[in-house]
Amino acid sequence: MNEQWKDTFHSEIEGLKETIGAFERGELDRKAYKGVSGGFGTYAQRDPAKHMLRLRMAGGRLTLERLKFLADTVEREQVGRLKLTTCQTIQLHDLSAGQVPVLIEEAMDNSIYSKGGGGDNPRNVMCSPLAGVQPGEAFDPTPWAEAATEYLLGICRDIHMPRKLKVAFSNGVDDSVHSAFRDMGFQAKEDGTFHVRIAGGLGAANPRMGISVEESAAPNEILYHIKAMIDTFCAHGNYQSRAKARTRYMQDTLGPDGLKEAYLAYLAAAKAAGGLDLDLVPTPIEKQGQGVLTHPRAIPQKQPGLYAVRYHPIGGCLPREKPAQLYHLLKDMPQTEIRVAPDETLYVIDLTADEAEKVLEVTSDGARTEFEHSVACIGASVCQQGIRDSQSALRAVVDAVREADLPDGALPRICISGCPSSCSAHQAGTIGFQGGVKLVDKVPMPAFQMLLDGSDAVGQARFGSPAATILERDLPALLVELGSAAAKAGQDWHTWSAAHTQERDAIIARYASLQ
Ligand code: SF4
Repeated sequence: MNEQWKDTFHSEIEGLKETIGAFERGELDRKAYKGVSGGFGTYAQRDPAKHMLRLRMAGGRLTLERLKFLADTVEREQVGRLKLTTCQTIQLHDLSAGQVPVLIEEAMDNSIYSKGGGGDNPRNVMCSPLAGVQPGEAFDPTPWAEAATEYLLGICRDIHMPRKLKVAFSNGVDDSVHSAFRDMGFQAKEDGTFHVRIAGGLGAANPRMGISVEESAAPNEILYHIKAMIDTFCAHGNYQSRAKARTRYMQDTLGPDGLKEAYLAYLAAAKAAGGLDLDLVPTPIEKQGQGVLTHPRAIPQKQPGLYAVRYHPIGGCLPREKPAQLYHLLKDMPQTEIRVAPDETLYVIDLTADEAEKVLEVTSDGARTEFEHSVACIGASVCQQGIRDSQSALRAVVDAVREADLPDGALPRICISGCPSSCSAHQAGTIGFQGGVKLVDKVPMPAFQMLLDGSDAVGQARFGSPAATILERDLPALLVELGSAAAKAGQDWHTWSAAHTQERDAIIARYASLQ
């Protein structure tokens, strides 16, 4: 990251310290504070004495240097809670106001930037978590994701967008980063180019797939595309209504064809101005593979003899001791790193079979089944915007499904968001839940809207359909009954759900009618 940019950011942190002081003294309300603090990647939690700091890592790359920082910080600062997020960041929770600016500066000295982690900024640039190591990928988009990060961090203080901008790079075989429906998505293709889509996005109101603006963009020209997207957004986005300010609303105001036309005009202008060409090649993995390992959490890489180990702490809540445990292990394993995945999983990559066995041991406390890989946002007990506590809802259903002893696969991974902000991407989940309320005898009761059959698979991206509103207290029983029906038929969820829609829908309808 360039030194001038870092110096400017350091000087901005002085201003943040004053803003935090004003918030603590009650001179600023939550909204005004969030307006400033979000730009630094920090918010006050529901309890205003506690703060969250979002550490962004381009492409979810938790390198050894970053892992050491995390391990040392958690220990020294007694960080209360760590949360992996669907934007491939790691959130530190329950910080005091005084810790926030200190940690922002220290993080930057360890190549972790919180700048733009919130607010109307370019957010963490995402990348397929197994980019560079995944069998079948078109090519490794990591260098372009990192170049996009540098570019966006370099210009973020000079632009004024109506809302945030999320950019994602897919390696062509895994689109868990949602390049098909991000504000801007680049999907790697076998011919060495990117398919570019824009103005997609989730959110309870008006979720939209991205529109295709170029089928075969040259990788060396991606910064022109990003500039064109920002110029289009700044010119045609909605500055009057925050509710309609995300890029996807430009599909309504300009129409898909009009939006594409505007974008391509800005793209042509950016290319004519020049100065943003890239010349990048992926870094080859030189480590030699060794040994053979068969384990459900050990994924063979495309490099023979090397493995990625999958570790999913329940609900994406990383145990406080885990960064230190992983650092002490990985520091003696050359050329390994961790990737934070958008489904709140960690992948430790580039491991020989022996190394993978050791990592499996240290991470044996994570999810045991596909269902336990479910995704949940931090939820309303922490998040000031939240309606429902997604984490406690997830814990309740995991406990019930363990108690029922359902076979692995009888239930899919589910996605739970505590409010319409969709932080778990529940619209793309096989089963998704969105926190809300349900009136029972005119009394609002805690409930979740259930969505069915969403997907983020490459070439099959679709949003789930609303199925029912279920009282929160009935979620465990509903999921146990659905999973039991699939198990009784001897089928996995996907097979059973597709073949038994009437039975499935009847079970859901029964729970939806409970008062
Ligand atoms: S979905 Fe809602 S409750 Fe959950 S983290 Fe996002 S804003 Fe907060």
